[in-house]
Amino acid sequence: MTESEGETKFSASIAAMLSLTGKVLTVLGPVEPEQLGRTMTHEHLTLTFECCYCPPATGEEAAALAPIELKNLHWLQQNPYSHHENLLLCQETNAVRDELLRYRKAGGGTIVENTTTGISRDLPVLQQLAKDTGVHIVAGAGYYVDVTHSDETKKMMVEELTDIIINEVLHGADGTDIRCGVIGEIGTSWPITESEKKVLRAAAHAQTQLGCPVIIHPGRNPAAPGEVVRVLQEAGGDISKTVMSHLDRTILDRGELLEFAKLGSYLEYDLFGTEVLNYAFNLVVDMPSDSQRVQTLAFLIKEGYEDRMLISHDIHTKNRLTKYGGHGYSHILRNIVPKMLSRGISQNQVDKILIDNPKNWLTFK
Ligand SMILES: [Zn+2]
Repeated sequence: MTESEGETKFSASIAAMLSLTGKVLTVLGPVEPEQLGRTMTHEHLTLTFECCYCPPATGEEAAALAPIELKNLHWLQQNPYSHHENLLLCQETNAVRDELLRYRKAGGGTIVENTTTGISRDLPVLQQLAKDTGVHIVAGAGYYVDVTHSDETKKMMVEELTDIIINEVLHGADGTDIRCGVIGEIGTSWPITESEKKVLRAAAHAQTQLGCPVIIHPGRNPAAPGEVVRVLQEAGGDISKTVMSHLDRTILDRGELLEFAKLGSYLEYDLFGTEVLNYAFNLVVDMPSDSQRVQTLAFLIKEGYEDRMLISHDIHTKNRLTKYGGHGYSHILRNIVPKMLSRGISQNQVDKILIDNPKNWLTFK
């Protein structure tokens, strides 16, 4: 790059940044925050999740390759990661389009699509889905967990990772001009690996420059969310503009939850619709049911956190689509909202969780 090309790119970046202040960045460009409406803050519309395949129990090996049929839907529900084809949500774009039309009909406005590098982010598909359905879709910049980092990624310095993330937001990702409106989900394991720490620092540095939202996938240990916040904070990240995902499988003790909540991130319960006995990746965890999730929401509201809470389904396998007998992207709007209202959560509080909190989080500073 010549010096004047460098200067042109630099001033193009400044101009791009200024134009994002006070806006939300979707795959179709910036929009006014008031346009978002009800928002699911953690979903996937297309991805491959083979990185997280879990072989089935001894004696059930054949089930991993069986076609998806009515007779194995319950097995799939309990063992979603032990079936190869179930992990290829990328094959279901037509079904997802139908789902998004139903989501709009149910009163949904926006979906944050958290697929990052490592699990086959597909921005042209997201842009087409947004055009076809009228649902605002916000795409994610950055990297998923360590097992999906390429050798090239692992060798990069924090500064290089920061530049890539900033570029994905300001100019477009994956060789397209389609821009990402959040950083994340940034994947972390437990313990957090060195490569993941570099990505976290890069996310914090990019956030400092862009004033943008960040969303984190914590490792599977109650200490993981707090440790991620510590790494981000040390790197200058804005925790008040950061979402901690998957709390429903990570911090089950209410005392520990309140300790974590004090750190000031958004608190996301994003596995609504998941009704399984044990958490497949950490069998010691008794997975909460949707009813228990709603109880936890009511508890956090009572403790004063209604401005910090977000909810979603994190659909990332086929069996959760209505096409395969699953709950689909409208489950929260159709079933969970009435349940919340019947359990002492007010309409005003529901609106905060579904409209105001996502809007505040997603708006660039
Ligand atoms: Zn996710």
